[in-house]
Amino acid sequence: MDRVQCVVAGAGVVGLAIARTLARAGYEVVVLEAEGAIGTGTSSRNSEVIHAGIYYPTGSVRARLCVAGRDRLYRYCAGRGIEHRRTGKLIVATDPTQNAKLDAIAAQAAANGVDDLRRLTAAEARALEPELACTAALLSPSTGIIDSHGLMLALQGEAEDKGAMIAFHSPLTAARVTGNGIELAVGGEEPSTLAADILVNAAGHGAWAVARAVHGLPVRHVPPRHLAKGNYFALAQGRSPFSRLVYPVPEDGGLGVHLTLDLGGQARFGPDVEWCESLDYAVDPARGERFYDSIRRYWPALPDGALVPAYCGIRPKLTGPGQPAADFVIQGPADHGVPGLVNLFGIESPGLTACLAIADTVAGMLAGGRAS
Ligand SMILES: Cc1cc2nc3c(=O)[nH]c(=O)nc-3n(C[C@H](O)[C@H](O)[C@H](O)COP(=O)(O)OP(=O)(O)OC[C@H]3O[C@@H](n4cnc5c(N)ncnc54)[C@H](O)[C@@H]3O)c2cc1C
Repeated sequence: MDRVQCVVAGAGVVGLAIARTLARAGYEVVVLEAEGAIGTGTSSRNSEVIHAGIYYPTGSVRARLCVAGRDRLYRYCAGRGIEHRRTGKLIVATDPTQNAKLDAIAAQAAANGVDDLRRLTAAEARALEPELACTAALLSPSTGIIDSHGLMLALQGEAEDKGAMIAFHSPLTAARVTGNGIELAVGGEEPSTLAADILVNAAGHGAWAVARAVHGLPVRHVPPRHLAKGNYFALAQGRSPFSRLVYPVPEDGGLGVHLTLDLGGQARFGPDVEWCESLDYAVDPARGERFYDSIRRYWPALPDGALVPAYCGIRPKLTGPGQPAADFVIQGPADHGVPGLVNLFGIESPGLTACLAIADTVAGMLAGGRAS
């Protein structure tokens, strides 16, 4: 049986960032990817926003890794020529009763170390975005957008430069903890086995199946999985009327139907929250109807019939409808007792923003520490 020092399961943005960090640290790395290309999962089905780290509970893993990862990501993009833009984002109150919520958001952001938010009057906000309707706003200058595929290609290239290898069409189907590392069963057209000292399970939606297939990992360490689809609608014609991202004040259960931009200047609206049972990426056009009222609160000029279904992503969640949002779960040997094993569960937003900081956390766990 071939032996390798470290196997990473999953070549999404998180698995690639981990492979790059471990390869740079001198580990011998093989990435097993079930599909035929990098980033075909959630990493290519998201808003491509570099989040500032505003809303997450202070001290949570998401808050810490978002703020740390955001700064790392901006530097990484600048250094490697990855297309990105610090567009800034407006969080808008659309009636006076929401104005106080902006203060609460600013306080939450400051507690998370996001200290650059600016309070704007309605007139100041409209001076920036003439089509905007609001009663007050917050400007987040450190929010931006990124070419997520460009990022993944850069991570892949750097990992490979440092000797990492990516095996496509190679799903990890089973693993067994032995006294001498972990034995892995790899499926695909030519099934094989592989021995490794380290297994990092960064398989996104597949992380639960991978963890359950690790004989030797007590099942109590595998959390429940819930799925929540996020649908996007785009403008059928024309460019975005806004040059910054526009988010309403968050509602219970979600951030509200917000407007994000791609690097080509096209607007897209969403994602909404549609709880689901399977990984079905079809967008129900009927869901567009409820977008109109929400968007018109901050963009009254949205024409009838302007929205068309675009795409969706599915959030890998740890809690279900009506339950409080869960934190990222990154379990290392100190958590579950299996040497060399790291599992990542529930890496929904802001996993793209945080990928480099997540990778540092995993490397720290493997080096014996608990978290960065
Ligand atoms: C609707 C939506 C919007 C989002 N917007 C943002 C945003 O604007 N900003 C932000 O920072 N974050 C955002 N996110 C979160 C971000 O997209 C994710 O955190 C990130 O892409 C997760 O990357 P990943 O590598 O963990 O998972 P994935 O990209 O899903 O990669 C997992 C990989 O594992 C592979 N795999 C599965 N099973 C196996 C197996 N058994 N063996 C081998 N390989 C396997 C899959 O094929 C896949 O390639 C959003 C998420 C959603 C759903």
